[in-house]
Amino acid sequence: MPKAKSAKKASKKKTSKKSTKRSNPEIPEMGEDELKRLQRNRSKGARGGGGDWWVPEIGDNRFRPIPFLHNGEPHVLVEQVTHFNVRSDGPISCRGEECAICALYDEVDKKIWDSIKASTKYLCNALVVVDGVEKQVKARLPKTVYDEIMNRIDPDDDEYVPNVLSMKKGRWWKISKIKTGPKPMNVKYKCVPLGQVSAATAQSDPVDMVAMLRDPIDVDMEQEIANDLSI
Ligand SMILES: [Zn+2]
Repeated sequence: MPKAKSAKKASKKKTSKKSTKRSNPEIPEMGEDELKRLQRNRSKGARGGGGDWWVPEIGDNRFRPIPFLHNGEPHVLVEQVTHFNVRSDGPISCRGEECAICALYDEVDKKIWDSIKASTKYLCNALVVVDGVEKQVKARLPKTVYDEIMNRIDPDDDEYVPNVLSMKKGRWWKISKIKTGPKPMNVKYKCVPLGQVSAATAQSDPVDMVAMLRDPIDVDMEQEIANDLSI
């Protein structure tokens, strides 16, 4: 039986009869001030998440990040820090410096630590090309991709590329996912903006990724889990 939804009033916008033509939402162009703000806020993001996410496939992936608005301000990538394998009903969000699971580093043996240590990913809206067709997705990406994008929007970085995130005259990116060994985690990523400047069109309103982050669980419950793990 599906979980009962909280009796929240549906905040869905009332849409008048949709025409068959898909509306192309206007994504705000980001100015220099906004890009500077993204740089300032670099790596300050939060935790959580869930649902269906696109991740790069082995080989070359065509990818174009789409900015979204949170409280009226544009964002691109949101940090998500999660602990897996600590609870049977799913991962929990890391509380950062106060996190009881992270505090187990010296308490548990390396094998356990490797399975429970925080995993950091970056969430964003993006256009990707799947089987030759452009598709809008929610993407979950490794830090390498995050760093490449942040480097290219930083005017003080050697790798700065003007307008790289612009929807009107920005770039597609190539994410290469390369196997480095037999295990699933034996991969490395390369991410570069492609040379050709082009306009892109979002297919639907980008998701507010900040709002999607899951809150950390209750402090006492987190401590209890940590105690169980350290036995
Ligand atoms: Zn943690």
